Amino acid sequence: MTLPGHPFLASHDDQLTLEGHSLTELGRRFGTPLYVYSRNAMRAQAASYQRALAGRSHLVCYAMKANSSLAVLQTFAEAGCGFDIVSGGELQRVLTAGGRADRIVFSGVGKTAEEMRLALDARVRCFNVESEAELSVLSEVAHAMGRRAPVSLRVNPDVDAGTHPYISTGLKANKFGIAHEQALAAYARARALPGIEVMGIDCHIGSQITSASPYLDALDRLLDLVDALSAQGVDLQHIDLGGGLGITYTDEEPPSAEDLVRQMLGRIDARGHGHREVLVEPGRSLVGNAGVLLSSVLYLKPGEEKNFCIVDAAMNDLVRPAMYQAWMRIEPCQRRGSTVARTWDVVGPVCESGDWLGHDRKLAVEQGDVLAVLSAGAYGMTMASNYNTRPRAAEVMVDGDAVHLIRERESIEQLIAGERLIG
Ligand SMILES: *Cc1c(COP(=O)(O)O)cnc(C)c1O
Repeated sequence: MTLPGHPFLASHDDQLTLEGHSLTELGRRFGTPLYVYSRNAMRAQAASYQRALAGRSHLVCYAMKANSSLAVLQTFAEAGCGFDIVSGGELQRVLTAGGRADRIVFSGVGKTAEEMRLALDARVRCFNVESEAELSVLSEVAHAMGRRAPVSLRVNPDVDAGTHPYISTGLKANKFGIAHEQALAAYARARALPGIEVMGIDCHIGSQITSASPYLDALDRLLDLVDALSAQGVDLQHIDLGGGLGITYTDEEPPSAEDLVRQMLGRIDARGHGHREVLVEPGRSLVGNAGVLLSSVLYLKPGEEKNFCIVDAAMNDLVRPAMYQAWMRIEPCQRRGSTVARTWDVVGPVCESGDWLGHDRKLAVEQGDVLAVLSAGAYGMTMASNYNTRPRAAEVMVDGDAVHLIRERESIEQLIAGERLIG
């Protein structure tokens, strides 16, 4: 029986399995905390976007900040995806993993001149520029290299994506993009700069969005600008719809990638822009439900007001609950008929009361059991830290019968390698 929203995760003979592999066994074999990903779940999500875009000029750019491990990038590169990057470091990761530079779009509000040079050297496909000040610096950098930087302006359409304030990006109050009212002036400026070549337009309105309507509103605002630019004789090559599609953590029912993209393409076609290349920048929806975080129960500590289930994964391994009050489903990897279920707060060993993975969860668990935090494939490992001098977790990718260790557990030696005593 597969779990809703998690087609590769199943409950089988009282064991939780990913692509048929027992998670308890993987946890015991590789140790915990451990991230485990399904490669076929990632491929299936990429295919969902690609099916909707088939038959037209398009590029699915995986927003790799969601999960930037090399083998994950390799998986998407092999599936024909490009990448949405936000730093020079991410550029190096893509190139190391075998991704093509001409399929990279470079986003972010604070690109440094050095990062611009690196990206120009690599010949990335496009810079998604977020301010007029950035446009000037990019022009200077490119001009000095005897080049013109291919550019798309990220427009802030001022629509409410209806998501958590920390992950909403398309409102005037957010730091992202160029205000809709200033966009035409910014395009005029861009065209006049010697080091800039205008290629497209883009927007990205937020993350964990669970309905199509904010996307369609933002798209209409974007297409208004494309029309206005056309009237001025500026013919944009591509329209980049951004990312942000949500996944099912609990009872959310987001549209499928295929359905969302089809709705947007319908609007693009209806407004006479069907000939333009379409880019999308999905992150979470490609990887979120492809991964779990495994941790072992260290101690059970029942109390008068709260029962604590202390596990060996903590906020440094998975910060979403602490940072966004995110609810993530927690399942024992082995079902126990003999143990009575109780209500537990699942917490980590870090010395912070904010260090929790789940509150008030009804679980039948015993010391030594392996638990899985579901939907941990996105914004899990990439946001991990070394707080409390905790080495970062190992990562495993399952792919049909194969099990690959894709990242070794970090050692304390690696963790302190760059530090120096004085004198
Ligand atoms: C983070 C980000 C994305 C991906 O967002 P998801 O919610 O993970 O799909 C896409 N584009 C830009 C510019 C981003 O910053």
